[in-house]
Order: sequence, then structure tokens, then C-alpha cells
Amino acid sequence: MTKQELLYEGKGKKLYKTDDENLLISEFKDDLTAFNAEKKGSEQGKGALNCKISTELFHLLEKNGIKTHLVKTISQTEQLVKKCKIVPIEVIVRNIATGSLSKRLGIKEGTILPFTLVEFCLKDDALGDPFINDDHCLLLNLVQNENQIKEIKDIAKKINSILLPFFDSKNLRLIDFKIELGFTKDNELVLADEISPDSCRFWDKATNEKLDKDRFRQDLGNVKMAYEEVLKRIMG
Ligand code: 5GP
Repeated sequence: MTKQELLYEGKGKKLYKTDDENLLISEFKDDLTAFNAEKKGSEQGKGALNCKISTELFHLLEKNGIKTHLVKTISQTEQLVKKCKIVPIEVIVRNIATGSLSKRLGIKEGTILPFTLVEFCLKDDALGDPFINDDHCLLLNLVQNENQIKEIKDIAKKINSILLPFFDSKNLRLIDFKIELGFTKDNELVLADEISPDSCRFWDKATNEKLDKDRFRQDLGNVKMAYEEVLKRIMG
């Protein structure tokens, strides 16, 4: 498999073409961004940590029946992935209130939600990834029909139901996370992008210490140490 020209560069990853038109190489970057890239930073080795964490979690999900874009992890920072048409919706799954949910709706940070909350944001940096509802998804033709919205929500909740007990067994509370889905050439809806401390919130079960990108967002320090701790617990 040969790596060819850069197809797309996002905030956390670069996507390269390969000699197979159905496969891409996803390279995890060390860059850190927050607040729609208004805040920028970098942590050497962060890309490799996220690549490893995301690989482990995608394998766990695959083993439990979730289809993903991952074909194979080919280096410390690179994954061979199926080319997908990404659904331009950031799917956010929440177990505990914090972040923008607490800010928007005044729900006290740390409140355990009575059920798994799934929210949608339009994946559009220029608009600041605004929150959208099911009708907006149809209005903007982000999905073809209501069944696809249900399918997306069902996949998101199933992923949560697999990850919650897994992280609990690692003494981590899975507070919330963001996923992206895409359609493969065979029109199969699969989990794409990554699942890592860049896209999830993890709190230590005993102390509620934040072990995710909030350490960067809120200038709490020890960003890389937190990502290393998450990897250590996942592997332990
Ligand atoms: P919030 O809406 O509270 O800012 O974020 C909810 C969850 O989704 C958090 O776990 C956060 O890391 C993730 N999230 C929201 N927007 C983005 C985004 O644009 N990029 C990434 N990587 N994660 C996001």
C-alpha cells in the first residue's frame, strides 16, 4: 500500500490517498485545537497516543458488532481506513451533564442524566458547528430520510452501551463523546473518524479528575500525561 497525495487536512488528522481508490491513510496529528480552532496548541506524541487509543476502541467496538472504517493500523500514527462519504453531522452522546450542555440548558455540571442523550451538530467550522435537530438534518439533506436518523441514533447509543461498562472497568467515567459516521462504497453506514481523549470526556472514577482535552481547553496542564493515563488504563 503506498501513501499518495494529501486529500484533506483537518484539525486532528490528515487524510491521504493510496494506490487503492477505496482506501485512505488517516494520520493522527500532534496539534490540539479548541473553541472552533480559536485556541491552538501541540503536544509531541499526542497523535500516536490517540492513534493507539482509537485503534483499541475501534477493535473493541468491531468485536461487539459495530461496523467501522478501520482496516488496519499501519504505524504509530497511521491507520488504513475505508474511504467513506462522511455524514456532515457531529453526533454527541452524553451520560453526565457538562460542557456546552450545562452552559446551554443550565443543568448543573456533573448531573447524571436520566437517559443517554444524543445530540446533533452541523459539521461546519465556518458556522461554528451549530446544534441542529432531526428536522434540520432532513431540511439540509444531511440524511436521506427519518430512518437514517434513527439508524444514526441507534448506532450512537449502542456504542455508548459498549463503551460505558468498558471504561467503568478501567475506573474511568465516560462523560460524553462525539462520533462521526460515513457511508462506504457499499452504502454501509460505519463509524469513522476517531474515538480518543480529543473527542471524549473521561473523569477518574474516584476523584473526578479530568483526563481528556478539557485539560487543554481549561489550561489544567499535564495534557499528555492524561492521555497516557487513559491509554494505560485501556491496555491494563
Ligand atoms: P460539548 O458540546 O460539551 O463542547 O462537547 C461534547 C462532547 O463532544 C465532548 O466530549 C467533546 O470533546 C466532543 N466534541 C464536541 N465538538 C467536537 C469537535 O468539534 N471535535 C472533537 N474532537 N470533539 C468534539
